[in-house]
Amino acid sequence: MKQILTIKLKLYEPTQAKRETYQLMADRVTDFANTYIALDKKSRPKTSKQAKEYSDPLPSAVLVQAIRDIESKPKAKHFKRLWPAFNNQNFRVEKELSRDGGAVWKASFPTLEKRVGVPVVVASYQEKYLNLLFAGKARQGTARLVKRGRDWYVHLSLTVTVEQEQRPEKVMGIDLGLICLLVASVSGQTLFFSGCHLAYVRRRFAELRRKLQKAGVHRALKKLGDKEHRWVTDVNHKVSRAVADFALSHGVTCIRMEDLAGVRWTKRQNRIQRRDHGRSLHYWPFYQLQEFIEHKANLAGIRVEYVNREKTSLTCSRCGEEKHSRSNGRWFVCPRCKKVKHVDANAADNIAQAISGLAA
Ligand SMILES: [Zn+2]
Repeated sequence: MKQILTIKLKLYEPTQAKRETYQLMADRVTDFANTYIALDKKSRPKTSKQAKEYSDPLPSAVLVQAIRDIESKPKAKHFKRLWPAFNNQNFRVEKELSRDGGAVWKASFPTLEKRVGVPVVVASYQEKYLNLLFAGKARQGTARLVKRGRDWYVHLSLTVTVEQEQRPEKVMGIDLGLICLLVASVSGQTLFFSGCHLAYVRRRFAELRRKLQKAGVHRALKKLGDKEHRWVTDVNHKVSRAVADFALSHGVTCIRMEDLAGVRWTKRQNRIQRRDHGRSLHYWPFYQLQEFIEHKANLAGIRVEYVNREKTSLTCSRCGEEKHSRSNGRWFVCPRCKKVKHVDANAADNIAQAISGLAA
């Protein structure tokens, strides 16, 4: 099974001179992109030599990759920002062993005057992938030099081959909801992500948005939107990472989630929505969250299945008794076997057992 992933490596404390160089490169690449798309198709430069006539000095490798990036977005009319990128021949990750046996990772790439080899910050889960790259078990794609806030990063794309080993089947169920963002359950153990704080932050964003709309400040509105978007994506990344780690630590072979395709929220959730006075996570990007979980699970050799979502919250996960109406409050109480369990954990267990069948 092949997976493409991007790892984001932060450049470790670049000097002021380096920061300025990176910024200048990024500005020149962006300028070049906008000059390039303004040309009609026939007169666009094809080679780096031709491209140099339309650009302030940039390494040939960067110009060639920029052309590739621009051509891959045929509908673009203007580039607010195009980051400098390097193909796999021009970008290298290097590993140096320090005296205490730890590894120091460096990124090496061409800049305006010379090639640099600069230290990068590597988290332990990223180290795993870089080691695969070193062992020849991952293929390197494009690397992109990106600024986020005050920091510079390299976004490195890797293609990894994941081998599936034979393990006894163990299924984890995941319930997604508007109040509990996510509940994962396996072998009687439960991982909860409450949505309270997230809903609170979202409300703050909404309030600010209303104020800015009233004031008619569109640039600030756009900025706020970008900020919220980054925050939401970051939360989804963190939650999916924790879910994948939880699954791995339990030796899970399969994750089952609800199939959200084509389904608006059920009556149950609509009812919660009406009652909850804005405490819930309406419009949270659950699709993105599921995508992230699936991606990280697959990388870990865990398969993902989708389950139809009817009745998962109305059925007892122990004896299969079906209730006609939802329990009040947060507890599922089975009328037959008297089992008591958190409603969402009960739902997650039902999803794990695929009580309403696998989705097509
Ligand atoms: Zn029961």
